[in-house]
Amino acid sequence: MKTLMTTDPDEAATFIRGGGIVAFPTETVYGLGANVFDERAVAKIFEAKERPADNPLIAHVGEISQIEELSGGITDDARKLIGAFFPGPLTVVVKRSAKVPLIATAGLETIGIRMPWHELARKFLAACGTPVVAPSANISGRPSPTTWQAVFEDLDGRIDCILQGEATEIGLESTVVDCTGQVPVVLRSGAIGVEDIRQIVPQTEVFAGGETSVLASPGMRHKHYSPRAKVVIVRDASEAAEQGRSAFIGFEIRSAHFDKVEVCASGEEYAHRLFAFFRECDLNKIDVIFCQAVDEKGIGRALMDRLRRAAEA
Ligand code: AMP
Ligand code: MG
Repeated sequence: MKTLMTTDPDEAATFIRGGGIVAFPTETVYGLGANVFDERAVAKIFEAKERPADNPLIAHVGEISQIEELSGGITDDARKLIGAFFPGPLTVVVKRSAKVPLIATAGLETIGIRMPWHELARKFLAACGTPVVAPSANISGRPSPTTWQAVFEDLDGRIDCILQGEATEIGLESTVVDCTGQVPVVLRSGAIGVEDIRQIVPQTEVFAGGETSVLASPGMRHKHYSPRAKVVIVRDASEAAEQGRSAFIGFEIRSAHFDKVEVCASGEEYAHRLFAFFRECDLNKIDVIFCQAVDEKGIGRALMDRLRRAAEA
């Protein structure tokens, strides 16, 4: 398949309307989209990404009114969180409507919904005229793509089109909150922290992990965010032992024996750079990537979650 590259959201949207799949930028990471109501198009996403069929997709809307056709009723808490954080990097999980094909939700009776604030994404979604399901636009297991070049690296020849935008602002995937139970439960951390969510719904809980988390958020148990290089979390650069070609990402650097180094001024910058750095390390044939641990506050919680998953692989 030939993959068309374009900066025109209207041109990219013609592929969605024709039953194709398109990668597009958002404020979190690049997504790989299809019309949520077109089962055959949704199946193409799983095939192109080699994504396990039990990993549900997030539906992206351009208008608040589109939430109605996706959900079979939403709780007061979901309504409050939507009011406070849409558009933005928050996904709310609600009951799915019967119109949503089960392939999109990996067989679940619930669906994750998000409304990006990214301008090009909004123009693209408006031109699609339908909610668009989109997981991250990478081969499953690889670091999520934060640039169109990273999408190209993984998916050129496998998808219809790449809508080319800038590098994504946040660089980590959306916060996912399950709003189908008694109280909201954060299933995946992201740029919107549990502290922010508790300002709106104080009873919000954070999922502690364990067996039920597999049931609640099936995708989370799959291998994630992994560069080919080994990832090791360290307190600071001096803890990094020499092992072949090595790289370091973090806030401060005292020793200079690394083959590649990224010094970040803040947690936000660290998040913004992390996945692109992983990919650059692979291109540079780095064996070990030392990642400096961060305080688990604000974006730090999401950052540590991604670092731990990358280090596990
Ligand atoms: P990705 O967009 O590739 O980060 O994948 C979407 C992730 O969102 C999944 O792996 C799940 O962790 C989460 N998710 C999406 N839909 C649901 C749902 N209905 N219930 C629980 N978690 C969901
Ligand atoms: Mg993903």
